[in-house]
Amino acid sequence: MAPVQPLYIHGQYAQANSGACLTTCNPATGELLARVQIAAPSDIDRAVDSAAQGFKVWSALPPVERGRILRRAQDILRARNDELATLEVQDTGKPLQEARVVDVASGADCLEYYAGLAAALNGEVINLGQSFAYTRREPLGVCAAIGAWNYPLQIACWKSAPALACGNAVVYKPSEETPLSALKLAEIYTEAGLPAGVFNVVNGGAAVGAQLAKHDRIKKISLTGSVPTGRQVMSAAAETLKAVTLELGGKSPLIIFDDCDLDNAVSAALLANFYTQGEICSNGTRVFVQDRILPAFLDKLLARTRKMVIGDPMNLETQVGSLIHEKHMNRVLDYIKIGQEEGATLLHGGKRVIVPECAAGFFVEPAIFTNVRDDMRIAQDEIFGPVLSVLGFRDEDEVITRANATPFGLAAGVFTQNLTRGHRVIARLEAGTCWINTYNITPIEMPFGGYKASGLGRENGTEALHHFTQTKSVYVEMGAVDAPY
Ligand code: NAD
Repeated sequence: MAPVQPLYIHGQYAQANSGACLTTCNPATGELLARVQIAAPSDIDRAVDSAAQGFKVWSALPPVERGRILRRAQDILRARNDELATLEVQDTGKPLQEARVVDVASGADCLEYYAGLAAALNGEVINLGQSFAYTRREPLGVCAAIGAWNYPLQIACWKSAPALACGNAVVYKPSEETPLSALKLAEIYTEAGLPAGVFNVVNGGAAVGAQLAKHDRIKKISLTGSVPTGRQVMSAAAETLKAVTLELGGKSPLIIFDDCDLDNAVSAALLANFYTQGEICSNGTRVFVQDRILPAFLDKLLARTRKMVIGDPMNLETQVGSLIHEKHMNRVLDYIKIGQEEGATLLHGGKRVIVPECAAGFFVEPAIFTNVRDDMRIAQDEIFGPVLSVLGFRDEDEVITRANATPFGLAAGVFTQNLTRGHRVIARLEAGTCWINTYNITPIEMPFGGYKASGLGRENGTEALHHFTQTKSVYVEMGAVDAPY
């Protein structure tokens, strides 16, 4: 029998009132990992009550003490790296070789970074001549956060760490596809000394998320998910005028000029499309390559893609794991069919792979399309799988116009050895997160988020602190009150 996972409320596991469970399976093997209790509306109220109590205690602590607790939590995360990475692989199907070095470590980096910033979060003093004003950066109160399934633990850390550093309490809802690691994070926070109620986990699907978005005692909602969900969350949040941060989807351009270091550009194109079997929001899925180097680029790209190892995600040699579930795999395979029907050339891959030791898994060969036109659906829609489209281009102005011709604006990359051109092109791209001569590197120090339909607000960096605080301005009169009556 698979274990039953309760909710996590007020520093401990708590039975849900709903009597209902969702199931979470290992996508690579089909193994049932756990039955996870779904929060009823009364459980959400309980979690919010608990968070309100937690908030009183937490926000009154000296910031340096809050930082100390976050730092202890990051120590525990790092000490449990391999165990948590394994859990993440079981729940997501991603390769263990990635999870061991990225998923837990990037979450721990985040806690460590905001632990350091907690005590440095100050307002300013404004000189007004004889009098002066000062500002206080105050927490918002109870915040809710909703995660996607591709980086469950990292997303839980990216949302909770800045919120907690600022003195807020968090009610967290992981994706229903990957509910397990956020519960572990809750245990770790408690072990590190986080007061009861400051980080609660309520599991469930869209209905639970929707209740958080409209809850009248929640002051802010931070979502990582798709654009349609972002619209729904923002519209539900409007009712109570909640603050909103939205980290949504993308169809990002990676622009490769003919003066680039070709091997580095190929490395980046591979990372920008096939890491985590393509299930990354910021992926550079429209790879624009300047005409002169297109044949050489394709030769190198093809040679290296052919060598990629698809297989059991638990095998440390594996580079391409299982997609999250069958429906998603079929959606990705449908797009590969649509691309061919629309006249693009499938240069490589794109077929389902049966891995003998994981026969129930949803593995798809990394796919490379050439002869792609900008108006094709594979160049317009977010596929969220291992599908790379190569598009040729002639000159700078043309490629910038084409790169920007999408409703999304999450990320963009430029490869060139010409420094001036690199900065000039980046400045004209409509994207929130950009790279020059690399792709998909997201250090915690660098703000992350999207322009246009890809989102609102920013995660990471000192920017995230603005999104989890409100500013109180205080005017201090040093002279007499000058009244005209
Ligand atoms: P999704 O939008 O289906 O679900 C995201 C989360 O929102 C889940 O927890 C889900 O239960 C919840 N949800 C769904 N409907 C809701 C509603 N009406 N109200 C409140 N909550 C609701 O997305 P997904 O399939 O889990 O993830 C894939 C998407 O996430 C892709 O579009 C991807 O680009 C995006 N994503 C973005 C980032 C980023 O940082 N920008 C990172 C990872 C994933």
